Amino acid sequence: PYDVLVIGGGPAGAAAAIYAARKGIRTGIVAERFGGQVMDTVGIENFISVPYTEGPKLVANLEQHVKDYEVDLMTEQKAAKLTSGDFIELELENGATLTSRSVILATGARWREMNVPGEQEYRGKGVAYCPHCDGPLFKGKRVAVIGGGNSGIEAAIDLAGIVEHVTVLEFADTLRADEVLQRKARSMKNVDIIKNAQTTEVRGDGNKVVGLTYTDRDSGESKNVDVAGIFVQIGLIPNTDWLKGGEVKLSRFGEIEVDARGATSVPGVFAAGDVATVPYKQIVVAMGSGSTAALSAFDYLIRTPLP
Ligand code: FAD
Repeated sequence: PYDVLVIGGGPAGAAAAIYAARKGIRTGIVAERFGGQVMDTVGIENFISVPYTEGPKLVANLEQHVKDYEVDLMTEQKAAKLTSGDFIELELENGATLTSRSVILATGARWREMNVPGEQEYRGKGVAYCPHCDGPLFKGKRVAVIGGGNSGIEAAIDLAGIVEHVTVLEFADTLRADEVLQRKARSMKNVDIIKNAQTTEVRGDGNKVVGLTYTDRDSGESKNVDVAGIFVQIGLIPNTDWLKGGEVKLSRFGEIEVDARGATSVPGVFAAGDVATVPYKQIVVAMGSGSTAALSAFDYLIRTPLP
């Protein structure tokens, strides 16, 4: 059996594996796709101490760093079921079972997409999902935020300080964001909020976004908004479908509940990064929480007698 088995090969999983392996204990990583969301990212400007890098380059560095240690790297493998006991058993989708004394869950999350024409084509060319990451790229330009929940209104307030103008489009006839956020957004001169608006298309010029089209659900009319950027803020879905109904406690949003040390409701099972109730979904945050989870797993191992 492994001492530490990490599920997920994004920044959280890679950091966890490196921290675990440096303790000289048997460490493995099971990942569907090494690199995770970072693989889908173009420019990265907030990876502290590296002013600019690109997703695939950061992933190559992560992989090299992991491979400097004795870590069993099992990629293109999907975890299907986790069962606790003397050893924790992890069943893979291919039918194989791995056992470990401790497990770190780092399966990440994915942004909910609008599923409208142009969204995929202009992803990274104006269509963005992370205001902390991509906001500064639209300095002095007009942008739209899709979604009037807390993350959408927070994004609008954040972006309003950087860009020329923000238009928020909300599908429903009311905003779901906290009242204090709504009040703040309404007080900002360069933020407009349109309700009952169903985004139907991302418009581009072949290279980059030039605007979007929405249907006014009151009148049925189709309308255009000219923008250089579209921030989609309609939810982040944690990759925990395979854990639902199992032993590990999830929050009402489907995130794995962890304490400050990354411990879950199951002894010996830890979680880190975007999949967990760790606040703020960012690369450096995921790496920090992965490291925390690995140190906590090591602490657990030295206090728990071998079965
Ligand atoms: P992920 O990166 O999501 O990795 C999850 C890992 O788990 C993957 O290896 C995946 O294959 C694996 N996995 C999932 N399910 C299973 C399963 N059942 N079995 C086995 N493996 C599984 N953050 C920044 O700090 N700066 C940026 O500039 C930035 N830009 C971004 C741009 C885009 C387009 C996106 C989508 C995100 C961006 N982020 C950025 C956010 C950042 O990428 C995430 O916060 C970070 O990747 C989270 O790391 P993670 O390891 O928790 O999860």
